[in-house]
Amino acid sequence: MKGPMARPDSPVKLRSVPSGDTPAASPRPMAGWGQHPVVDGVERLSEKLPEVARGAVLSRGLGRAYGDAALPPQNAGAHVAGSRLADRLLAFDERTGVLRAEAGLSLAALNRLFWPRGFSSPVSTGTAFVTLGGMVASDVHGRNHHVAGCFGEHVRALRVQLADGRILDVDPENEPELFHGCFGGMGLLGHVLEVELQLVRIPSPWIWSESERYGSLEELLPALLEERSRWPYAVAWLDCQSRGAALGRGILMMGRWASAAEAPEGAPKSGPRFGIPFRFPRGVVNRHTLRILNRLWYLRHPGQRQARIVGPESFFYPLDRIANWHRVFGPRGFTQYQCVIPAEPAVYREFLERFQRGGGSSFVTVFKDCGAAGKGPLSFPQPGASLALDIPIRGDRTRALVDSLNDFVVAQGGRIYLAKDAFTSPEHFRRMYSRLSEFEALRERWDPECRISSTQSRRLLGR
Ligand SMILES: Cc1cc2nc3c(=O)[nH]c(=O)nc-3n(C[C@H](O)[C@H](O)[C@H](O)COP(=O)(O)OP(=O)(O)OC[C@H]3O[C@@H](n4cnc5c(N)ncnc54)[C@H](O)[C@@H]3O)c2cc1C
Repeated sequence: MKGPMARPDSPVKLRSVPSGDTPAASPRPMAGWGQHPVVDGVERLSEKLPEVARGAVLSRGLGRAYGDAALPPQNAGAHVAGSRLADRLLAFDERTGVLRAEAGLSLAALNRLFWPRGFSSPVSTGTAFVTLGGMVASDVHGRNHHVAGCFGEHVRALRVQLADGRILDVDPENEPELFHGCFGGMGLLGHVLEVELQLVRIPSPWIWSESERYGSLEELLPALLEERSRWPYAVAWLDCQSRGAALGRGILMMGRWASAAEAPEGAPKSGPRFGIPFRFPRGVVNRHTLRILNRLWYLRHPGQRQARIVGPESFFYPLDRIANWHRVFGPRGFTQYQCVIPAEPAVYREFLERFQRGGGSSFVTVFKDCGAAGKGPLSFPQPGASLALDIPIRGDRTRALVDSLNDFVVAQGGRIYLAKDAFTSPEHFRRMYSRLSEFEALRERWDPECRISSTQSRRLLGR
């Protein structure tokens, strides 16, 4: 690779891992990962991102936002700029670990290139099929949020194409409000073209991982909070269907990069991958099947603490082994509800009881410890514990459930994550994000006509 931040004459060309989408020139149904809602839109893809970003109503990466954040407004009349072909490495300095790349570079491609070279992204999401642009727009957080903070903490500079077509290089000194506003701004302030990211050094491409089972929420949550001081990565899976004393029982998973001495010979191999070939019929995933699955998953873990060395793919992205896993939710799809509220067992017990009373069910239910808030006015994390639940959609009952959970979250001073949301009302949203007016002022300055918008921004912000 070239020297310090040099721009190579012929940049390294990478091809992002396919998302399963196909390019299209005429309107076609588009959805987020949860397959709800579905809107018609035109996605234009090009290796030359500035060309497709010109006049675009929104940017889109690999479509891993669950709800409507990466969907154009219905009848937008303008195309969406698909970034995933614009995925070149522009410069890398091996001394400092600073990488500059186009916004369509996927985390999967970055990992494939840099893990063997002793570097990693400082923040990893639960799937590697996300782009750098999408990671900026959602200011993503990982299992190490308590030590590393949000993705934005590690980004040194951005190149952004504004709604009026101007291209700006922004960083903490140059247009800092715009720079910080892009993190968590869901692409509404401009199209991110390039990202300059500080990678971290890793001692080996292997993870030392430990896991332990806890029989109740009152044991699991304090254990998560305690382990965070010992481990850079910590996350818990939780059985949200159990009741009474067993409510919130679950499995805590911790990890750190293995030292060179601990690491096995050679590089980790990717495990077997398979796909869900068709959409399951409606109703296969329901409260009853999920209760059984939760129970089996909990009991599958032995009673004693387990320790092993694993590859980072199986540690960070267990779901990536199953292509199109959203299809198990059937034609109505699902929504992921993710909130952050105080990390107190009594608060979470009340939340889970409310979830159960509202008819909610989920299998992929994940607890994370959140550290400091991000710098973006709409960054999601704030101190507390975050819980994510994958909820099968059941029409108006799902909206009512989200409303009821949001009432509780607002009362606790918490908020929901826009990258997952499809149902929150503007009233709840305004009460969750206390820095919203700052964001609106930024939008007024950089895109006063709101030329960039999404189904989500129309729902939550009006115009
Ligand atoms: C299985 C799974 C696990 C996940 N785990 C986590 C997790 O652990 N932590 C976490 O924080 N998130 C997580 N997510 C959410 C995911 O990280 C975010 O939704 C991320 O934004 C998706 O990136 P993407 O490239 O697919 O973007 P898309 O879904 O295509 O777009 C998401 C948002 O980014 C905007 N955007 C995309 N590209 C650009 C660009 N170039 N310029 C400006 N705006 C842009 C879009 O307009 C949209 O608002 C997970 C998602 C899935 C499906």
